[in-house]
Amino acid sequence: METLALFFMIFLQNMKHSIIVGLGLAGLNYALQLQKEKKDFFIIDTGIKNASRNAAGICNPTVLKRYTMSWYGSEFIEYALPHYRSFESKINESFYQDLPIHKYFNRTSEQNDWSIASHKKELNKFLEPQITNNSNPGIKRKNGYGSVQNVGRLKVSLILDRFTKNLLATEYLNEALDYDSLEIDDNHVIYKGIVAQQIVFCEGYGLKKNPWFNYLPLIGSKGEYFLIKAPKLSRKQIVKGGVFILPMGTDLFWAGASFSSDDKTNEITEKGKEWLLSKLENLLDTPYEIIYHGASIRPTVSDRRPLLGEHPIHKNLYIFNGLGTRGVLMAPLLSKWLFDFISEKKELPQAVAINRFETYFSSPKKKHV
Ligand SMILES: Cc1cc2nc3c(=O)[nH]c(=O)nc-3n(C[C@H](O)[C@H](O)[C@H](O)COP(=O)(O)OP(=O)(O)OC[C@H]3O[C@@H](n4cnc5c(N)ncnc54)[C@H](O)[C@@H]3O)c2cc1C
Repeated sequence: METLALFFMIFLQNMKHSIIVGLGLAGLNYALQLQKEKKDFFIIDTGIKNASRNAAGICNPTVLKRYTMSWYGSEFIEYALPHYRSFESKINESFYQDLPIHKYFNRTSEQNDWSIASHKKELNKFLEPQITNNSNPGIKRKNGYGSVQNVGRLKVSLILDRFTKNLLATEYLNEALDYDSLEIDDNHVIYKGIVAQQIVFCEGYGLKKNPWFNYLPLIGSKGEYFLIKAPKLSRKQIVKGGVFILPMGTDLFWAGASFSSDDKTNEITEKGKEWLLSKLENLLDTPYEIIYHGASIRPTVSDRRPLLGEHPIHKNLYIFNGLGTRGVLMAPLLSKWLFDFISEKKELPQAVAINRFETYFSSPKKKHV
């Protein structure tokens, strides 16, 4: 009897708060949230180049096509910056760079739309009212640009590398989760001897293979981009004009990205290349060299909102997905919402809660999308 009690005590002592599957922006931010809350975790990740490592890393709460704020934009950015900054101070390295975005106008009439938008509540914190009529060096457009302030870029691959490097061997496993090896009990889950109160799936487009959550309408949107060398382009800002051009280092720029919902592979395509070339042809009048052409799938959802919540039957299986095109901006506050939901039973905002797709689970044969 005593041996059993002792065994049970050791079992409980070794129980982690969460197993996290996937280390992209979702997994990283959820783990940072757990560190903040002083909860321990175990991460399982394939280590394969994911959407996050292909992203430009732009953190922008405005919608520059429509001159509006993005959904929950102000709340997301207010939480995101201190969240990243606190990890920066913890390990004494910088990952977040403040950089304005110069939005080039297609027509001079857009200048008027910009001026009106720049005086609106919330947007006025980001859109500078003053319009500039000169172009930056190397930019072809001649209709002027507006500057977006208080935005920037997260060096996503670097933060993921540093975070992984700081993990202990008892916190990280570099492999694809074998779903059949996961033991699910009412009060805990066990994976190859690792015990946790719950498991949180942060698998990006990998969700499609997840046997518990693949009923959710993750659509996926492929993005292709270039890394270009362009010695004459300015490195002081992000340029938006058909595509984004973002400074990465000496003479190196990220340029993209395309959107395609038909092709769900990570392969680069001739069509994607032609599209990017035509956008750059319209935007740049400076020589450049293509150094790399990449592609990845953004985890987008049919209603364009994130996916957070618990499995309808197994109450210790959770999901954190659907970051779409704005993972850098949204993942920090979404991590807090998910933590509060799991640990404090606080309700999730309905727009992100997966129970909005309850019928997809209960009537899987019906065509929903
Ligand atoms: C070209 C491009 C440009 C983008 N630019 C921006 C941008 O500028 N700003 C922005 O905010 N967003 C951008 N995005 C979107 C952003 O990349 C996504 O919102 C975000 O990366 C999604 O993060 P995630 O963690 O959900 O998924 P991912 O980054 O794909 O990470 C999922 C991880 O889970 C792992 N995994 C999956 N299944 C398993 C399993 N069974 N076992 C173990 N590991 C598993 C994968 O290997 C991967 O490491 C861009 C996306 C693309 C494609």
